[in-house]
Amino acid sequence: MSQFIVGLTGGIGCGKTTVTKLFANLGVQHVDADVIARNLVQPGTKCLAAITAKFGQSILQADGSLNRAALRQLVFTDSAAKAWLEQLLHPAIRQQLLTELASCNSAYALLVAPLLLENNLQPYCQRILVIDLPESLQISRTLARDQVSEQQVAAIMAAQLPRQQRLAQANDIIHNHSNLEALVPQVQALHQRYLQLAAKGNSG
Ligand code: ATP
Repeated sequence: MSQFIVGLTGGIGCGKTTVTKLFANLGVQHVDADVIARNLVQPGTKCLAAITAKFGQSILQADGSLNRAALRQLVFTDSAAKAWLEQLLHPAIRQQLLTELASCNSAYALLVAPLLLENNLQPYCQRILVIDLPESLQISRTLARDQVSEQQVAAIMAAQLPRQQRLAQANDIIHNHSNLEALVPQVQALHQRYLQLAAKGNSG
């Protein structure tokens, strides 16, 4: 079991997936809060049954899977619905995160979560690693990757911490305003540092 956990976070489109792959190339395992959240609401799960009981069958697609866009729209406009959904999902996500982190056996492991700071997952982490880039670039990369409007990206960013508040909580920062090649030496340097810290069993 990895005792040393690095929380990797950053806003939409900042490069979490890209950076996680670079750490994986170095043998570092990770747990992804978004993947866990998605798996928890697959057809046949207790959570999806509770969501359907609460919001009705109209929250499902024709094939019985969750209509994520409809749910996202609902919680954007209804704060009580958002609170209800969070009290259902957050404890289940935390429990699964801990279970999966416990089965990681690399020298240290990454807990990857876009809302790591917003959802107060810091207590599970020895270090907080923030991926940072100008907001304009965050928007243009997200628009190039996803079929979404600029307004949708802006709405998602508005529900995430502003750049400076996220940076204020960082122990370490990866700067992702340049090309992909520029990420590699930053990841390698942090990897060496985390190996040392993990071996010493402290957070620096
Ligand atoms: P989300 O939280 O929205 O899932 P993310 O933080 O995981 O996003 P990525 O998917 O890794 O972000 O990156 C967003 C997009 O930007 C991807 O299409 C990725 O290929 C691209 N990208 C990431 N870093 C760079 C870079 N340095 N140069 C060019 N493109 C990049």
